[in-house]
Amino acid sequence: MTKEIAGKTLEQWKENPYIKDIIEENDVFWINDKKGSFEEEKDQVEYTGQDVKDAEDRLKRFAPWLEMTFEDTKKLNGLIESPYSKIDQFKADVEARYDTEIIGDLYLKRDDLLPIAGTIKARGAIYEVLVHAEKVAIEQGLLSGYDDDYTKFASDEFQNYFKDFSVVVGTTGNLGISVGVMAAAFGFKAIVHMSSEAKQWKKDYLRQNGVEVIEHNTNFTEAVEQGRAASEADPNSYFVDDENSEHLFLGYTTAASRLKAQLEDDGIVIDDDHPLFLYLPCGVGGSPGGITFGAKHTFGDNVYAFFAEPTHVPSLILGLLTGEYSNVSVNDFGIDGKTVMDGLAVPRTSQFVAKVMEHFFDGGYTLSDEESNRNLTRLVDTEDIFLEPAATAGLSGAAFLFKTEEGQKFIQDKGLTEKMANATHVAWATGGSMVPEEDRKKFYEAGK
Ligand SMILES: *Cc1c(COP(=O)(O)O)cnc(C)c1O
Repeated sequence: MTKEIAGKTLEQWKENPYIKDIIEENDVFWINDKKGSFEEEKDQVEYTGQDVKDAEDRLKRFAPWLEMTFEDTKKLNGLIESPYSKIDQFKADVEARYDTEIIGDLYLKRDDLLPIAGTIKARGAIYEVLVHAEKVAIEQGLLSGYDDDYTKFASDEFQNYFKDFSVVVGTTGNLGISVGVMAAAFGFKAIVHMSSEAKQWKKDYLRQNGVEVIEHNTNFTEAVEQGRAASEADPNSYFVDDENSEHLFLGYTTAASRLKAQLEDDGIVIDDDHPLFLYLPCGVGGSPGGITFGAKHTFGDNVYAFFAEPTHVPSLILGLLTGEYSNVSVNDFGIDGKTVMDGLAVPRTSQFVAKVMEHFFDGGYTLSDEESNRNLTRLVDTEDIFLEPAATAGLSGAAFLFKTEEGQKFIQDKGLTEKMANATHVAWATGGSMVPEEDRKKFYEAGK
């Protein structure tokens, strides 16, 4: 009997031309045409604009403590936010490479420069640790309520109290840095479970920051499971669950209102005649999902959001196209899951994020490692900006929108043809500033 994947054979799945291309590891540009307008969709999911607002308020409450604890948050008074910049030279390069014209302006959102952790995880993961610290402090009577003085988190009283509580995460990389450093800053016992493939510099960095690193001679999934089991055995332990975390998702949503304020400061208008396009690197889906959710609540139907995945790890697009979400992994379809874009190397999407985002994502695309390498090197050459491989995935998005038939049809169907001259395209750069010099050289050479 032929092997089945969620009730169908590989050949049956391949009857859908997009699924066929994905299984064959070709790059695709796919439009989510099931989705309605924001007004129609916003009440179809369990999260609301109030959840975004709550997350923004929580980050504001903690700003005074963040400012006194982390030097690099001082200039924004405790706000964890990144700048953005126009990348005209790179735009010309990517147009030439893909033989297309990107109409509108192309910008890069520099989450590689976020304070504290230097990756997009600093939005979601740090937020999740704040939620937990606040909850413990209120439950234990250390804080009287949300209007208490949050700089008390720096006091010996709080720090000594938190020593008996631990925060645990299983990861190969960036999530561990954000969670670990943040948990240690509160005085929590911070424990990061890592698999054998995790980079040595990440383990060293965590240990230097007071984080306990437990190494497993197993793969990523097993390291996470062992971390989860150890955490669940201890009632004073909190486990950050990358695949199912609502707090991570909500932390990311706050990026959108911040972006709106930044664009407004620079006189960049987003309205019915001036569309905004976001191109977001996607791993489990939490960060692109959260940012898109916040963006739709901020800009409504004037923002269009596309997620970007490696051709060898198309987990979210496969979850959506098959309608099987996290029930299928890319490996089930014979896709190897190996990519230079290590921050996106998640073989199975997040069930809850995929289901929510079906209502909000405009589409997604995949790109090859060669294209990622080339983006990385050319961004250094043209703009003198270094990103880690995963962070370059958004850089092909605008070119794909104009180059592909699907993209052109999308522009027409949405009535955007005349408006594209006013469009703002934002490729979201998700990390890079922490990568050691020798790794940078290797990555740069790979895209020469
Ligand atoms: C985690 C990560 C992403 C993707 O975020 P998900 O929430 O996993 O989708 C993208 N880029 C970098 C650098 C990351 O570390």
